[in-house]
Amino acid sequence: MDERIEQLRLRTRGAVITAADDGYDDARKVHNAMIDRRPRVVVRAANVGDVMAAVAYAREEGLDLAVRGGSHSVPGFGTCADGVVLDLSAMRGVRVDPHTETARVEGGATWGDVNAATYPFGLATTGGIISTTGVGGLTLGGGIGYLSRGLGLSCDNLLSADVVTADGELLVVSEKEHDDLFWAIRGGGGNFGVITSFDFRLRPVRDIYGGPIFFELDHAGDVLRFFREFIADAPRELGAFPAFQIAPPLPFIPEQRHGEPFVAIVACWAGPLDEGERQLRPLRDIAPIVAEHVGPMPYPALNSAFDALVPPGLQHYWKANFNTELTDAAIDGHLQHAPKLPAVNSTVHIYPINGACHDVAPDATAFSYRDATFATVIAGMWPDPADNDANIEWVRDYYAATAPHSERGGYVNFMAEDDQGRIQENYRGNYERLVEVKRAYDADNVFHLNQNIRP
Ligand SMILES: Cc1cc2nc3c(=O)[nH]c(=O)nc-3n(C[C@H](O)[C@H](O)[C@H](O)COP(=O)(O)OP(=O)(O)OC[C@H]3O[C@@H](n4cnc5c(N)ncnc54)[C@H](O)[C@@H]3O)c2cc1C
Repeated sequence: MDERIEQLRLRTRGAVITAADDGYDDARKVHNAMIDRRPRVVVRAANVGDVMAAVAYAREEGLDLAVRGGSHSVPGFGTCADGVVLDLSAMRGVRVDPHTETARVEGGATWGDVNAATYPFGLATTGGIISTTGVGGLTLGGGIGYLSRGLGLSCDNLLSADVVTADGELLVVSEKEHDDLFWAIRGGGGNFGVITSFDFRLRPVRDIYGGPIFFELDHAGDVLRFFREFIADAPRELGAFPAFQIAPPLPFIPEQRHGEPFVAIVACWAGPLDEGERQLRPLRDIAPIVAEHVGPMPYPALNSAFDALVPPGLQHYWKANFNTELTDAAIDGHLQHAPKLPAVNSTVHIYPINGACHDVAPDATAFSYRDATFATVIAGMWPDPADNDANIEWVRDYYAATAPHSERGGYVNFMAEDDQGRIQENYRGNYERLVEVKRAYDADNVFHLNQNIRP
């Protein structure tokens, strides 16, 4: 029996799981099955006290500390070898205050948890495209989703947060208190502490009009060129992004086309429902439609519509860039590599960054690319590890073709492990200030399993 682990158990309300315990193999898993690490201990925190105990334990023992929210990090930052995993997945409560239109969200909640709690009030805030992604990692890196043109990034809707710092202290941070730390956690990732709860501003959103529209790949150039002009000044209630996607075996897609690659537009009109059809018409008119699944639906239904394409246990390798301008040359890069999508789980999304995202100054939060017009992600995901070499090569070749026509930086949440060298480029003018905040709150770099800002 390890005395120190027993001491940790005494200090902790939640489960403390080691290799000797049942459930260890499940507890050490993260979403990306390419990551297979054996932590010394997994602390599944039940409350803020457990979080403080786990941070203190890692420091006292001189062990690596991995903090895990929704576990979607592609580089697998939510686990580590022979260190401490602080798993927040048992802390996912959401309390909605319909009067102030705010929600208090615990640090391990997913967007599905948030949607389920806010929808009955006809309220929402910007989350990601998939409902199983964690609020924690997504918000800390920025947060791009269906509602970001209208409501801003997820981090733009953050009003305050409870943060356990490297010293094991709990700070409540906002524009008024510890504003430097509040600034840094809005884009700077998990570098500065463990967020045990997030306070979000909500907005009226209940049912939306939208869904995916599939066009022939031959029309991909027309679709992208039309979209880049159209979305620049489309109404802010319209969230939409072009995607390259292999047709899954779904009833709305002609059976003989299942398994073929297409260009799609996924749309989400969050304004008055009866205007939805008219607002989406320009998108539906770009080219002949092969298949579509568009109509009114609850926002949480669209937000979970693609969950089944990205179950836990796939292999993941991603690359990403911002574009201030989606040039014809960049589009040519897409046209060259998108037809070679390797699996139905893989996708390329070209998310517009405009509307409310541009209302915030580049230095107002740590997320600096406020002049970008698109965030592109080449999301390689596939089931069989035997395909790893070939599929990683597809992502890298695709990236190599589009990177010369893109900004040097990309969205931190779409970055791979081998992108650590791009940190400064991802933050540009905000990087030095992030280093200063890191020095002030985590000079020993306790929180280093992330896209790391070194003190
Ligand atoms: C299938 C899929 C779909 C995605 N879709 C989108 C999308 O639509 N929009 C978008 O913006 N991004 C998207 N992402 C990227 C996503 O934002 C990042 O992977 C993000 O890091 C996931 O957060 P998480 O909490 O699930 O992950 P985790 O692996 O748990 O954590 C990721 C990082 O955040 C830190 N972290 C997490 N929670 C906390 C916390 N409470 N306190 C302190 N640090 C914390 C971790 O330490 C780690 O460094 C997607 C990712 C996947 C795999």
